Amino acid sequence: MDAEHSSATRRPVAVALGATVTASGATALPATGAPAPAKSGATALSATGAPPRSAKTIPGAPQDGGLLDRFGRVATDLRVSVIDKCNLRCTYCMPADGMPWLPQTQLMSADEIRRIVRVAVQSLGAEELRITGGEPLVRKDLEVIIAGIRDDNPDLPISMTTNAVGLDRRAQALKDAGLTRLNVSLDTLHPETFAELTRRPHLDKVLAGLEAARAAGLGPIKINAVLLRGMNDTEVVPLVDWAVTNGFEMRFIEDMPLDGDRSWSATNVIPARDIRAAIEEAFTLTADPRGRGAAPAERWEVRRPGETAVAGHIGIISSVTEPFCAACTRTRVTADGKVRSCLFSHEETDLLSALREGTDDAGIAQVWRDAMWAKPRAHGSDRVGLARADFVQPERTMSAIGG
Ligand code: SF4
Repeated sequence: MDAEHSSATRRPVAVALGATVTASGATALPATGAPAPAKSGATALSATGAPPRSAKTIPGAPQDGGLLDRFGRVATDLRVSVIDKCNLRCTYCMPADGMPWLPQTQLMSADEIRRIVRVAVQSLGAEELRITGGEPLVRKDLEVIIAGIRDDNPDLPISMTTNAVGLDRRAQALKDAGLTRLNVSLDTLHPETFAELTRRPHLDKVLAGLEAARAAGLGPIKINAVLLRGMNDTEVVPLVDWAVTNGFEMRFIEDMPLDGDRSWSATNVIPARDIRAAIEEAFTLTADPRGRGAAPAERWEVRRPGETAVAGHIGIISSVTEPFCAACTRTRVTADGKVRSCLFSHEETDLLSALREGTDDAGIAQVWRDAMWAKPRAHGSDRVGLARADFVQPERTMSAIGG
């Protein structure tokens, strides 16, 4: 990392969407309290990884109703990846190059995605949909995909996780197609840090995308930031200040072992408690009275010093240091139509092949129920913990799973 990126030399950075943000006074978060380093075996996998195993069937799955698992959880939060490609190369997600892409024929078509979502909502009780990638905006027929899903499911909340590059040209069309909410990945407000972290110089495009999304009435807009030690950990307070000023909800996510470089280290994780402590040096945080429910983010009200009015909200997703798997309601489908019952699963169930072989909706629903019945307790295993000695990183990277 060059001197430009050290906290001592950061200058105020003028950004679009409101405030001039300065990192002055921001201090790097301490390294204390991080979990132990992961076993080296977790880094031995290739960046591409072998194909995940097909999921074993575990007897006892329900034959009707929703997506129940062996631990009594019911999955109602559907996340569907529409493409594995991305136009950025974030260090915590993809390798710089050499990422193998899915062949076009293996990607779900717009009609196949529409049918899978319809089965999830109308036969299995899914209550909300998140479109993910890769980067969904890379898909040229994204508006068609969303419009089809909206036609089938008029009341379904449809959100999308995006890096917002290119969103300035498509925000209104996506809103018109039926998209309701956005989660925008943005880890830094410094152009140089952005270019280093994403390996692309596109901060201005992200900010233009955010402007367009707000103008189109997409909302609420949440900003997802992964904090990396020595990279952007001085930006906690400036990011909260910028988000609150612009009416966005800032969400900090602990770095997870889903990177393409297989270089994740538990010692580099900024723990949620340190993130909270850093924010409380500049703001007052109060637990959100609406509670957390099954949401991955613990939410807080933000007040500026000396003010009683709530200025905004933040969320912190503590997958590593404070796991929330016991309340998990998520079920994921990859861009090639594989059900992943857990983000860290080593096994997948091929829904798309069943669909292409002519299986009817009831049959698709049962394949899905069987897959979710086998959902591991936590972190891809029946043992909890991403920093435990026997944790093994999944074969797919984050970009190939969908967040
Ligand atoms: S690690 Fe798996 S079980 Fe835990 S919250 Fe994430 S998806 Fe759910």
